[in-house]
Amino acid sequence: MLPEFDFLTPNSLAEALAWLAQRAGDAAPVAGGTNIVPDLRSGRHAPKALVDLSRLAELKGIRREDGYVVAGGGVTIAELLGSPLVRSSARPLFEAARLFANPLIRNRATLAGNLADASPAADSAPPLLALDAEVELVSQAGTRRVSLVEFFTGVRRTVRRTDEILAAVRWPVPEPEAAFGYTKLGLRRADAISVVSAAVCLVPAPDGACSRARIALGSVAPVPMRARAAEAFLTGRPLSAETIAEAARMAAGEASPISDLRATSGYRKRVAEVIVRRLLAEAARTPQPQES
Ligand SMILES: Cc1cc2nc3c(=O)[nH]c(=O)nc-3n(C[C@H](O)[C@H](O)[C@H](O)COP(=O)(O)OP(=O)(O)OC[C@H]3O[C@@H](n4cnc5c(N)ncnc54)[C@H](O)[C@@H]3O)c2cc1C
Repeated sequence: MLPEFDFLTPNSLAEALAWLAQRAGDAAPVAGGTNIVPDLRSGRHAPKALVDLSRLAELKGIRREDGYVVAGGGVTIAELLGSPLVRSSARPLFEAARLFANPLIRNRATLAGNLADASPAADSAPPLLALDAEVELVSQAGTRRVSLVEFFTGVRRTVRRTDEILAAVRWPVPEPEAAFGYTKLGLRRADAISVVSAAVCLVPAPDGACSRARIALGSVAPVPMRARAAEAFLTGRPLSAETIAEAARMAAGEASPISDLRATSGYRKRVAEVIVRRLLAEAARTPQPQES
């Protein structure tokens, strides 16, 4: 059974922010409701009011702006999947959207809801970490931008204050030579929570060495994480099979997974190494755009 709560339906972002400020900590935003409604039913979450963000035009749309792609927090996973801009400038996010839940959930679930919920298994997080994304947090006091790496602070905990709305997610338009990869391992091929997921980005230098590397992992630590030591190891080195294998070993070593009903900690570490090695090898083989 659902507990009793007020359901507030603002017509603008300003009105939603006023409600959150006024109800000081006892109101929570709701967007698609695919996380928060099960949480209300289970008693894990008991806000006295829900502020409905699903109709707010300010949280919609995906656009290019000053070298960035900006996606409104209210953009659904289905909308990510249908966006030519996401397909061309955020390939791992597109792939994550393709493997996300099922069509019914993808039509309701939002990008902001996925990130604000801060599950270690949130599927949009590793791709966005590999893209160097930041989130835009808006309150009546103003707007602040926080890198996604700093946004997550623990299992289902973030730096978001209770009076803030995650209004948008931004990432720099990648260089044409950047190569990406994404994969998600679940207990079945569709509608499954990630056992391990990973996204990588490799930017090669003209001499073929690695000039920038990003390795992001989901479901292997309390928060979606970047494997910083492995990234630093790759930077400046040739992208040989040996270097890639060592980076993958290091990435798995940086993970601190738990054992749960889906997999043991040891299995997650082993799979993380294999997935990262394959993704890096594939990204290193991606043909580079020719100079005209
Ligand atoms: C059957 C099923 C399958 C699923 N499969 C997957 C999957 O494959 N991969 C995956 O990652 N997740 C999955 N999920 C989890 C869920 O669908 C996603 O996390 C989804 O993106 C949450 O978005 P939402 O809009 O429904 O969030 P809501 O449930 O509305 O909100 C979630 C949390 O975020 C907060 N919030 C929402 N919007 C904002 C905002 N704009 N600003 C600040 N806070 C906000 C809410 O207060 C709440 O705490 C699944 C869920 C179900 C029920």
